[in-house]
Amino acid sequence: MTGSRFVKVAVPIPVRRLFSYRVPDSMEHDPVPGCRVRVPLGKRDVVGTVVRSPGEPPPESVRVREIHEVLDREPVVGTDILDLTRFVSEYYLCSWGEAIEAALPPVSGKGRQVRFVNRLPGAGPEQLPERASGRRRALTALPEDCSPVPVKDLPERDRNLLLELERAGLVEITTRAVAAAGRPPAAVASPELAPTPAQARVLEEIDSAIRKQAWSPFLLFGDTGSGKTEVYLRAAEQTLAEGRGVIYLVPEIGLTPLLMQRLKGRFGGEVEVLHSRLTKTERFRAWSRVKEGGCRFVVGTRSAVFAPVRNPGLLVVDEEQDPSYKQQETPRYNGRDLAVLRAREAGAVLILGSATPSMESFRHAGAGRYRLLRLGGRVGGRPLPTVRVVDMREEYRRHKEIQPLAGLLTDAITDRLSRNEQILILRNRRGFAVSVFCPACGNRIQCDHCSVTMTWHRRDDRLRCHGCDLERGTPDRCPHCDESGLQFLGDGSEKIEDELRRHFPRAVIARMDRDAVRKRGAHEELLNRFDAGEIDMLVGTQMIAKGHDFPGVTLVGILSADQNLGLPDFRAGERVFQLLTQVAGRAGRREKPGEVVLQAFDPEHPVVMESIRQDYEAFYRRELEYRRSLRYPPFTAMVQLLVSDRNPGKAAIWADQLAEAVRAEGHGRLIISGPGLAPVERLRGKYRQQILVRSAGRRKMVQAVGRALERLDPGIPHRAVVVDVDPYTLL
Ligand code: ADP
Ligand code: ZN
Repeated sequence: MTGSRFVKVAVPIPVRRLFSYRVPDSMEHDPVPGCRVRVPLGKRDVVGTVVRSPGEPPPESVRVREIHEVLDREPVVGTDILDLTRFVSEYYLCSWGEAIEAALPPVSGKGRQVRFVNRLPGAGPEQLPERASGRRRALTALPEDCSPVPVKDLPERDRNLLLELERAGLVEITTRAVAAAGRPPAAVASPELAPTPAQARVLEEIDSAIRKQAWSPFLLFGDTGSGKTEVYLRAAEQTLAEGRGVIYLVPEIGLTPLLMQRLKGRFGGEVEVLHSRLTKTERFRAWSRVKEGGCRFVVGTRSAVFAPVRNPGLLVVDEEQDPSYKQQETPRYNGRDLAVLRAREAGAVLILGSATPSMESFRHAGAGRYRLLRLGGRVGGRPLPTVRVVDMREEYRRHKEIQPLAGLLTDAITDRLSRNEQILILRNRRGFAVSVFCPACGNRIQCDHCSVTMTWHRRDDRLRCHGCDLERGTPDRCPHCDESGLQFLGDGSEKIEDELRRHFPRAVIARMDRDAVRKRGAHEELLNRFDAGEIDMLVGTQMIAKGHDFPGVTLVGILSADQNLGLPDFRAGERVFQLLTQVAGRAGRREKPGEVVLQAFDPEHPVVMESIRQDYEAFYRRELEYRRSLRYPPFTAMVQLLVSDRNPGKAAIWADQLAEAVRAEGHGRLIISGPGLAPVERLRGKYRQQILVRSAGRRKMVQAVGRALERLDPGIPHRAVVVDVDPYTLL
């Protein structure tokens, strides 16, 4: 086998190793790292990525198979992204192939992938037997200089002979991604704002870091409405002027049409958008334009951290605490954390921005790992909104029933409507009735597949499980005891919308939650209409809270502010604080001051009090003590292991085995909680066991968990175990 050539290929399957393949003799050049290849794996063909070439020859005893096809002539994954994805595989315990898959745009909308054929050097018809006239003809039809032509442009009779020519080593067939011509972006003129003194101070530091062209991490801690976006945009301009690229990450629903207009107006064709609501074709087109160097500024959601921007000099993560940066499927990476890494590797400037920094990032800043930039107060000296609190227990005592909207709030709404100002109402729960309850037997209707009570959606009169999206018709009687008289309890956003319409029949009211914006474009349309003043009042879930800059909003109502404080997740308090501060921050962002009315059953809860005072630092200090005393992140690193199966007994046994294996590999250095039933015990028909592993040092812990997974009984299927390093939610 002398002369055999090998490459190492990363394959997108949940097996954490690389595979060796032989380069067929007919291929003149070894495919280089970053090129995709079609390779046999077991009984199927998969597309993997070459990560080492040449790869060391595998041991004699191993049967190595041949690459079937090389899909790219040029690497689609650059060396920086290869390094980043390898890091992802080691840090988040997934395979390198899975990480690369997450970094690439989804393959092919229709017509994306084009097959090309070219002669190999020296190939000519004389190398074919004389009687093979068909093959001779087909080969002669190809350019002599070996340049590729699209297969589909060849006459069909020739096309059918290409595989034979390939086998004879005369031609090469490749599949290549072809970018269609880009659509010119809609540009709306966007005025340059002269920086305020506070912005200027912050920019001075950032600009000097940009000029140094070296790794410099910043945490931009700026109140809501303090003008962070303007700081990002100026830093971006500066970076582009230095000849380097920019990646600007925003949360899943932070990518508003307004921000886009602002970006297009200012950066024109230099900016490209990458996010998950684009169609496959759009995403691919945008990605290709970036890859080819057609634009140097990418704005997008978490996966844009992998964008093939050349020589990035600035990475921005807006609302760095936002949970949507964490991917909730393999690979479970956090886009913010990868942005930190990518910026460091690229010698770039990093700006993490937030009005409510995550505990992790604020602590890093405190320890000097990030430089803290404070942007205090709002642009133009506008005041932060005043907050009034309604104690819902008193409301109840007074009315002897739970009314979703307190008098103080409805009065405030009346007042604002009369002045033609706009209102946001937060109710962070979808549906009409949060649960359906039978007073005769005490049953709450649950999903058949999840330990989750079903929510009644009135518009389509269906019960829906928010765990798995299962739907069913609304029963007249209790499915358990057959009594009639089912009670519909708990007011979801749909019910609140209804109540508001009843109270304010003349106001234009719209709702924004996942149900209301299912249709593509619905989200943008709602935001545009609200921004244009066509809607008086927008009610919705956390979707209404994030990042928006609505000039006309002066009143924000928050219903059940203390909801979720009791969730069995150590981040529950942090989440609530962030949400309350964010949504309150939507009020009074222009000339007219804003006001917040907050309804809570437990208004004395420290988190509620701190968010009323908008006192991040008080919140942070108290929360830090709690985390310290219970040894939760950021004082420890955490890995969540979920073991699930339809058979609860199996899930429990496997979880025991896994916990045991982790304990053995951890040599007494790990804190292991569980296994025990996860807070949502059953999801999509599977029983779930949870193990939480903590340790002061992340690296050793992750390695120990990795070893434990490797030595796990091979009878335990891969899909039964989910590994989440740095989990963002424990539910
Ligand atoms: P943040 O992202 O910190 O919440 P924004 O960047 O959205 O804040 O800015 C808040 C508001 O202030 C926006 O309406 C923005 O247009 C305005 N603004 C920001 N910077 C300036 C400036 N230098 N001069 C005038 N207005 C500004
Ligand atoms: Zn369900």
